[in-house]
This record gives sequence, C-alpha cells and structure tokens, in this order.
Amino acid sequence: MFRDARKVAKNQLIERDVCIIGGGAAGITLACELSNGGAKVALIESGDIAASAATQALYRGSVAGGYLPAESDYLSTSRLRFFGGTTNHWAGLCGRLAPIDFEQRSWIPHSGWPFDREHLDPYYERARPILQLGPFDPPDAARRQLDFGPGNEIKTIVKQYSPPTRFGPVHGPELKAATNVEVFLRGNATELRSDPASKHIEWVRVATLSGNHFRVAARTYVLAAGGIENARLLLASNRVQPNGIGNSADLVGRFFMDHWYRQTGVAHVVLDAAPGDVALYTWPPARDALTGRVTQGRIVLSDATQRQHRLPNNGFGLLPLREAGIGPLMRSVGSVVRDFSATGKKTRYFGGLSITLEPLPDPSNRISLSAEVDALGMPRTRLHWDLTENDRKAAIRSLEVFATELGRSLRGRVKVQLALDGPWTRMSFSSHHIGTTRMHEDPRQGVVDANARVHGVSNLYVAGSSVFPTAGLVNPTLTIVALAIRLADHLKSEIFS
Ligand SMILES: Cc1cc2nc3c(=O)[nH]c(=O)nc-3n(C[C@H](O)[C@H](O)[C@H](O)COP(=O)(O)OP(=O)(O)OC[C@H]3O[C@@H](n4cnc5c(N)ncnc54)[C@H](O)[C@@H]3O)c2cc1C
Repeated sequence: MFRDARKVAKNQLIERDVCIIGGGAAGITLACELSNGGAKVALIESGDIAASAATQALYRGSVAGGYLPAESDYLSTSRLRFFGGTTNHWAGLCGRLAPIDFEQRSWIPHSGWPFDREHLDPYYERARPILQLGPFDPPDAARRQLDFGPGNEIKTIVKQYSPPTRFGPVHGPELKAATNVEVFLRGNATELRSDPASKHIEWVRVATLSGNHFRVAARTYVLAAGGIENARLLLASNRVQPNGIGNSADLVGRFFMDHWYRQTGVAHVVLDAAPGDVALYTWPPARDALTGRVTQGRIVLSDATQRQHRLPNNGFGLLPLREAGIGPLMRSVGSVVRDFSATGKKTRYFGGLSITLEPLPDPSNRISLSAEVDALGMPRTRLHWDLTENDRKAAIRSLEVFATELGRSLRGRVKVQLALDGPWTRMSFSSHHIGTTRMHEDPRQGVVDANARVHGVSNLYVAGSSVFPTAGLVNPTLTIVALAIRLADHLKSEIFS
C-alpha cells in the first residue's frame, strides 16, 4: 500500500516490525523480498513517485578537498530523491565484483571484505531478474573477446546493461499490492533516536516539507537512503551520542569513494585487430548476438599482475577516433604504428584509451555535517574529497603495466599520454557513492558487521554501497541489490523466523 506521509496524524507513533528508510535500489529490493511475508514493513521515502525541486534540494551541500570546485553541485546532481531513487536516471551498467576485490590486499590499506565472492554468487544470481539482466557470461560476448596470448597478464571482463530498470515503475506495483508493506511517500527520516545507552534504536522521526511529523517505531531498522545520506542520517542523529549513531570509532562518513574515469588524454592504442573484433570494448556498446543483451568489455590486469605490481583493479576501454580526438591522435600515432610494424604486426585498429580507477580507501575523503541546515532543519552534507596522490600513482603505473603487457602479447602498442605531474583536471566521476559506513568484523575498522548490522546497535542495519569496504572496478548497483537480498534473508531467518 502507498500512503501520503503528509496525511498521517501529527505526532502519531506508527509501530511496525521493520522500518526501511529510503526507496531506491536497496530499499525497494529489501521491501520486495519481505513483501507478503509475516513481518509488517514501513518504507519511508522522502520523495513522491515523481521528482520535485523542493525535495531534491534537501540533497544540496558543500564540497571541499581540492578536486571538485567549491561551487560544484555534485551532491545534488549525482543522486535523485524520489521513489525509485537514483535508478530513475541510472545508466544500468552492471557487473559482479571480481574475486580479488573481496580479498585483503596487503598493498591496499583498509581492503578486505568479511566474505568472498563465492559467498555472494547466489545473491548475484537472484539479483538478475530484479535488474532484468540476462546470464552473467553471455556466450557471444565471450566469443568476441580479444585473445591477449598465453601469459594472461591482461584479460577481459564483460559487463551488461540492465534495460535500465527503473525501480519505481518496475517494482513499485509489487509493493503497492503487498498486504504487509506500507510505503510512506513524501516522508523524510530526519533522526534515529536510540536508548540512552545507544544500544538500540527506539524510533525514527519522519517529517514532511508541508510541516507534518510523526514517529515510526520498529523491531528492526534499515538505512537505505543512499551512500551519502546513510552517513548523514547517522551523524545527524546526535542527541544521545554527540558523534552520532554507530560512530564510536569515528568511521561514519569516512572512506568516501566514487569511480574516477577519464576518456581523453590517457593513451593512444594500436591493435592488430579489425574494428569489428574490438566492438565489445568501444562505444556505443555492442549487442550480444545470442542473448540480445547490450554488453561492455573492459580490459583489466589479471589478479596475478595486480598482485605482482601491487595495483588496484583499474580498467581500460577503447575509445573510437571521434571521441579520442582525430588531430592529436594522428600526430602521435605514426611512431606507435612504426614500432608495431617492426614486430611484424599490422595496425588494423587505432584509437584512444579510457581508464577507470578503483579508488583507494582513504579516511580523509569523508562526509560530515555542515553548519547550514536544510528546509527540515537537518544539517546539510559537507563532502571532503580528493583524487589522492596514491590514486594518481596507481593510475600511471597501471597504464604502464597495461602498455607493457599489451606489447608483450603482440596484440598491440600503447602510447601513454597521462603523466603524474600532468593535468588531472579532466578526470570525471561516476556518481557511485561508496564506503561511508564500511563493513568490517572489527568495530574499530568498520561501521557495520558482516551482516550489515551497525556495530553496537542491536536493531539497526545498513543497505547500499555505503557498506562496501572497497569499490572494485565495476558499477555498484548489482552488488547493492545482491546485498539487499542477502540482508532480507538474514532478517527473515534471524529475526522473524
Ligand atoms: C547519472 C547516473 C548514472 C548511473 N549509472 C549507473 C550504472 O550504469 N550502473 C550502476 O551500477 N550504478 C549507476 N549509478 C549509481 C546508481 O544509481 C546507484 O548505485 C543506486 O541507485 C544506489 O541505490 P540506493 O538504493 O543505495 O540509493 P538511491 O537509489 O539513491 O535511493 C535512495 C533513496 O532514499 C531516499 N531518501 C534519501 N534520504 C532520505 C530520508 N532522509 N528519508 C527518506 N528517504 C530518503 C531517496 O529519495 C531515494 O529514493 C548511476 C548514478 C547516476 C547519478
């Protein structure tokens, strides 16, 4: 059932089994998994079923840290605040994190998930229909991968586009029909209130822009308000603990990450492969002839190569001439082609190279509260975020290793343009908000435990990419959905069995 939070009686206390805050990819998945079960669920969603400027403005905040200009509207444009959340305009690109992404990599401080990829595989499989995806390893895409020779120092990963699934229109009807779920639209959670010892949550305050407010009390609460807002809500719930809820180790909001990428000025590449053979790696993305699914290939360093060179999981794509800029390419490509010909190979493709970085977890990249408040009286978000020296060094080193390995495979040649001291101003971001309530078994190193429960708070869980300890290379939403299914199973078996 859908309800209008503006019409709930003022000061009412609504009691339910589960209270989910946020109706985006994570919150809607969780509510659907719990729908038609025994638990009574309240889903509190800030927006309506369509966008509104006043609600979206609640996302405004300030940025600092050096990379984004102070006037950047990153906080209000990289996410959407209405039913369906940011999936109302996401691109739909989906991929599973790689097994190495879950490992504690000695060369990446703060890396390591509390479980491995194999543990997540059944949940990835269950996430496929929710995201309207085909099989994870489309057979035709496998056939169209470039062969990088016997050493396997570099390899291909294949991602797949969801239609893209708009969670509101696609999954909303299931929630509307569910007998045990109520979605409160236009209701903003503004505070979680804990008991005096901060051991459990007693209620959530909900406020509307029209001036109404009420409380929801539940046995279990799940924060699913997005990778930035989850941290903001914990920090702003500071009446009992001045540092906010779950923040005794000063980790809430820290380790903010987004995938940096860059398309121009990275490198030029020549390949002994016909343009038709590299369609998987270029733009526009290719349709899989057997499944009809739109796929995208990325070239990555193998696990062994990442280990050997102590690198994060950075990835590379091919860029057609028109995107890479014909002028600069033509000027520099001659010497690369000559070099390549000297190995007896023929240049059948040349273009630009794009790079996507796995950002390195860094506690100084963080969400905190600003002194300014929004229309509901909540402190606005302040984001301190920079592309660190270590990210830059890893990008350059990955490029060099990729160039060497491609040369060794005799498939092609790379001329690197990006330099450590060169201009980094054209690095873009992907609007993936990761890491601000990181998962770790040890409460001194993580905000949530392996079940996504906030350390020290018995009935509070977090869903979404804020729990990822590291970002990996791929887009996060498939993993967000897989983790939400896993959390629903946990709630069903541990709490409501
Ligand atoms: C342009 C763009 C393209 C993208 N493309 C891709 C892609 O190709 N692949 C990919 O994997 N990801 C992509 N993403 C990221 C993707 O959209 C997010 O990873 C995903 O939507 C996150 O899901 P979520 O449920 O955690 O958060 P959201 O989808 O942002 O949902 C959060 C929900 O919580 C609600 N909310 C917030 N605060 C409150 C509050 N206080 N009280 C009540 N409700 C609240 C919001 O209204 C919203 O509905 C893209 C993002 C953008 C901006």
